[in-house]
Amino acid sequence: MNSFLGPVGKTEALTPNSEPMIDPFGRAVTYLRVSVTDRCDFRCTYCMSEHMTFLPKKDLLTLEELNRLCSAFIQKGVRKLRLTGGEPLVRKNIMELVRNLGRHVYAGTLDELTLTTNGSQLARNAEELYDCGVRRINVSLDTLDPVKFKQITRWGDFSKVMKGIDAAQKAGLQIKLNAVALKDFNEFEIPEMMRFAHGRGMDLTVIETMPMGEIEEDRTDRYLPLSQLRTQLEEQFTLSDIPYKTGGPARYFKVTETGGRLGFITPLTHNFCESCNRVRLTCTGTLYMCLGQNDAADLRTALRASEDDGLLSNAIDEAILRKPKGHDFIIDRTHKRPAVARHMSVTGG
Ligand code: SAM
Repeated sequence: MNSFLGPVGKTEALTPNSEPMIDPFGRAVTYLRVSVTDRCDFRCTYCMSEHMTFLPKKDLLTLEELNRLCSAFIQKGVRKLRLTGGEPLVRKNIMELVRNLGRHVYAGTLDELTLTTNGSQLARNAEELYDCGVRRINVSLDTLDPVKFKQITRWGDFSKVMKGIDAAQKAGLQIKLNAVALKDFNEFEIPEMMRFAHGRGMDLTVIETMPMGEIEEDRTDRYLPLSQLRTQLEEQFTLSDIPYKTGGPARYFKVTETGGRLGFITPLTHNFCESCNRVRLTCTGTLYMCLGQNDAADLRTALRASEDDGLLSNAIDEAILRKPKGHDFIIDRTHKRPAVARHMSVTGG
């Protein structure tokens, strides 16, 4: 046990349930993603509108409540937990939650604690993340060109993200870069991004843009099917299918020329629902059983109704029984509205 973590407090929260939660389609739910804040220090054009209305701070669960909720899921068989947002590292005192959840990793009741970040705050948090039991993180990066970076993030500082990546690697964190594939933006930059990532021992995953939340532009203009990107890449690179899995939806290829791994996340051209093992919790205690559907369960009421976790456990069971078979994202000009009204920042990526 790492001395930084200190004594384990509520030991009962570290007792796992060996029976995983099973949804109506026989899928075991073992992966929880938690959006710890809907706020972000970037305004990526495909993700958010420039003038977002965020939740009032009073509606947020406290870090203690989030810890209790996450621990309840771990007791019910969750083995992988990802903190996301908004930008998880802009939530005040977030490292308190990371430290508490890290106790489950050190106790062996959680296989992996990880996070998805834009990298802006990594330089100051990387060492502490490692100390808390985090070993791998995803960093979202859509371009290596500082001018284009400013254009896509509106508010981001490219050099800060690069410093964050340096610090994370120095601290021993394994990094996967995530890039949303965008037509007429980074379509022809993916080879360079792949060489950069693989040259530094990082995986790169490309993602199709999903129709979530109103933004200023029409996503159809930027949508790049990954089947098309793959054909383009295969003119220069040899991609071989590999069975590598990280518990998420990406399908991986080995790239002969770079020796690295390239992942594809294809919610539109090929949905990955049949193997979905995930549910998503928001910072207000709402549980979304599917990224692409509107149905959600309120866990906050059960959490606050009693200090004992019995009601909460029942509310989670009821929610899992409502997990739908899958999503059906469609992106084209005849569908003027996003498939779901909420932005990705509500449930995290
Ligand atoms: N702030 C963190 C970050 O930048 O990684 C975590 C939250 S962000 C919403 C998580 C991921 O979702 C990022 O990789 C982002 O690029 C991706 N994303 C946001 N909106 C998206 C959309 N409409 N379609 C596909 N990916 C999206």
